[in-house]
Amino acid sequence: MVTFIKILIASIFVGILAVFWNRSSFDPESLRGARVLVTGASSGIGEQMAYHYARFGAKIVITARRKKILEKVIEKCLSLGAQEALYVSGDISNETDSENVVDFALEKLGGLDYLVLNHVGKSGFAMWNGDMDHFRSLMKVNFFSYVQMAWRALPPLEQSKGSIIVVSSIAGKMSSPFAAAYTATKCALNGFFGSLNHELAMKKSNVSISICTLGLIDTETALNAVRGIIMAPAYPATEAALNIIITGQTRQQELYYPWFTYVMNLTKDWFPSLTNYIIRSSLNYNP
Ligand code: NAP
Repeated sequence: MVTFIKILIASIFVGILAVFWNRSSFDPESLRGARVLVTGASSGIGEQMAYHYARFGAKIVITARRKKILEKVIEKCLSLGAQEALYVSGDISNETDSENVVDFALEKLGGLDYLVLNHVGKSGFAMWNGDMDHFRSLMKVNFFSYVQMAWRALPPLEQSKGSIIVVSSIAGKMSSPFAAAYTATKCALNGFFGSLNHELAMKKSNVSISICTLGLIDTETALNAVRGIIMAPAYPATEAALNIIITGQTRQQELYYPWFTYVMNLTKDWFPSLTNYIIRSSLNYNP
């Protein structure tokens, strides 16, 4: 146990050091007038990102399915200082809508500097029940649409030296119970965009990819899903959103928020049995 604590402290130290070592300085001015498309912006982290980009004076297109809510988010973005704020509604599980959303942003903003892929389909927090229809539709929303939109936006992002920001989860790095389908979609995202990142670097592309690993964040959807099962604290969506934006602007390849998700990711392979024990016993489950 003493050895474990020593290694844990050492890994926390390494984690903090790595964070500071990789920290490039954030330039909020560069976001003034930046052309940004944020998906899944009618609620949660996406909505908070829209407000932050607005405060920085960006030109924003937001998207989701619920028009009425998008209208309200747009109003607030304009009042916060967005140079432009427009919405386009669409169901991103549908290939045509995914492409239309990117094309709308390119046309209205005259190009794109940031493609922020953040949307997520509804999934419960329960044991896998074999529902393949739900799993297939979740793969469309959480994974295939990300790939399709990124591919569509890549040529204009190449011209603008732009960035793709992928909002992922600690579930994409380490499996936990009650979220098998969601976990699979996030692992797929990490795998795909990790490969694409290599390929872009090898081609000396201008486009950066940032993959954001988040822990539990206090959005309504997440809190409703885990209520009574996870007792751990949830971190603020507005802070998560700001960290994602900073990671994209500084063109860092990865974000871990909150910070201890970095340590969890490091230590899971060193102490698999202990990690599994901690994950399982931190969930409230009484069969
Ligand atoms: P959220 O509040 O549930 O927001 C999801 C967004 O996606 C909404 O704007 C929703 O809008 C949109 N959306 C869902 N299905 C769609 C579809 N078929 N077509 C178009 N838009 C669709 O989610 P969140 O908690 O902020 O999560 C945001 C991101 O952070 C996700 O990628 C999630 O995996 C990641 N993350 C969150 C947490 C957390 O604890 N909250 C933890 C780790 C990672 P409409 O319903 O209006 O379409």
